[in-house]
Amino acid sequence: MPEPSRTKAENTCIIKLMSDSTSASAWAKPGNPDETWRLITNGHLVLPKGEVMEGGSVLIVDGRIRDLYSKTPASLLLERDNVEVIDATGCWVTPGLIDQHINGAYGVPFNTATTEQIRSCLKMLLSHGVTSICPTLITASNIELLGAFARLEELMINQHLTHCRSLGFHLEGPFLNPEYRGAHPKAHLLPPTLEHLQQMMAPNLRILTLAPELDPYGDLVEMITSKGIRVNIGHTAADIDIARKAFDAGAKCVTHFFNAMPGFHHRKPGLLAAACLDDSVYVELIADGHHSAVDALALVMKLKPADRIILVSDANTLMGADVGQSTQFGGQRITLTADGSINEEGKLAGATCLLDGAIRNLVKWHLASFPQAVQMATANPARYLGENTHFGELKPDALADIALWDRQSLTIKQTLLQGRVVYEANQAEAAQKAS
Ligand SMILES: [Zn+2]
Repeated sequence: MPEPSRTKAENTCIIKLMSDSTSASAWAKPGNPDETWRLITNGHLVLPKGEVMEGGSVLIVDGRIRDLYSKTPASLLLERDNVEVIDATGCWVTPGLIDQHINGAYGVPFNTATTEQIRSCLKMLLSHGVTSICPTLITASNIELLGAFARLEELMINQHLTHCRSLGFHLEGPFLNPEYRGAHPKAHLLPPTLEHLQQMMAPNLRILTLAPELDPYGDLVEMITSKGIRVNIGHTAADIDIARKAFDAGAKCVTHFFNAMPGFHHRKPGLLAAACLDDSVYVELIADGHHSAVDALALVMKLKPADRIILVSDANTLMGADVGQSTQFGGQRITLTADGSINEEGKLAGATCLLDGAIRNLVKWHLASFPQAVQMATANPARYLGENTHFGELKPDALADIALWDRQSLTIKQTLLQGRVVYEANQAEAAQKAS
């Protein structure tokens, strides 16, 4: 087992320098008061734990869900004249989608983009029903990361109701195993020394993905998670003992399960087995048809409880591009091919399928029903992040971040953010035809 790179006293010093992560109470302020009452009627509501209320209604008052009804509350419509009705006939009504692992999209890399570029990307994500994300930064130079921390902090301070919300950022790296670095540039991978950790512990850090073999006794994981920051295990060669130590220390999620880690071996069961044998551990899955075979995803669905699977996009800037287009990612050229987003070494480098597409895939591959798949992109990430009071479930008092889906095509028809309609497919189509 490798020697730890710091003493306990040094670790304690680092933690004292870290501020508390984003408090859930920050979402309690819904922005400007919204006087309009809205009533979504006649929809198939996907409720917590995947139950369905057919022909149900959702009443929204001042950005939050006031109540759910099993049919249209006619008396309410008679009593009040300022109720805006949203007809959801033929639609699923679900919570807005939450993507805790997304590096960028629509040509915008979160590592280097300006705050305005990031805002424009977050606006486009609404058309996919995505209402909250953890912008994800990949390993880069200190200068690049410190610049990104500052821009993402500015984004958090000035959240607008015109684009999807940042819940705080996910830092993937730089404390990763070089052997399993994937698309992360080797030159910028670091050991978790006192100095390096101090630089990475920025305000609004929500998730840190690290390789636990760099922290073999789990003392660092324990102290970081004690501050409310989630630690994911990823880009790692952790054996089963190190993985279990990290889980016991508080790391409760595995980053893009199967990818950037050794495969299963029956005499060296490793991280994959440790995660499948521990029901307290979440696993991130990329369901794009490239990152894992459908049967591998089916295996996870059998082995893990349904409430411990988190769909993520792991999207990069090529999301929204055409096959054949290239860009820079992690200091390398990546190209969108029919087999996914590939770097110069021929390795997969990020993905281009967002969460609505991942949900459609799980349904198409008969791995989950639509309500089950929705849980994996709403309630499950919200619970993992400790935000399920506010997001991820259709229930009274939750913020009214809601997606309406066509029940035939499973495409997004409308997205609401804190009760306001922020995307409508019909209007988008009309605008496209007019241009
Ligand atoms: Zn990764």
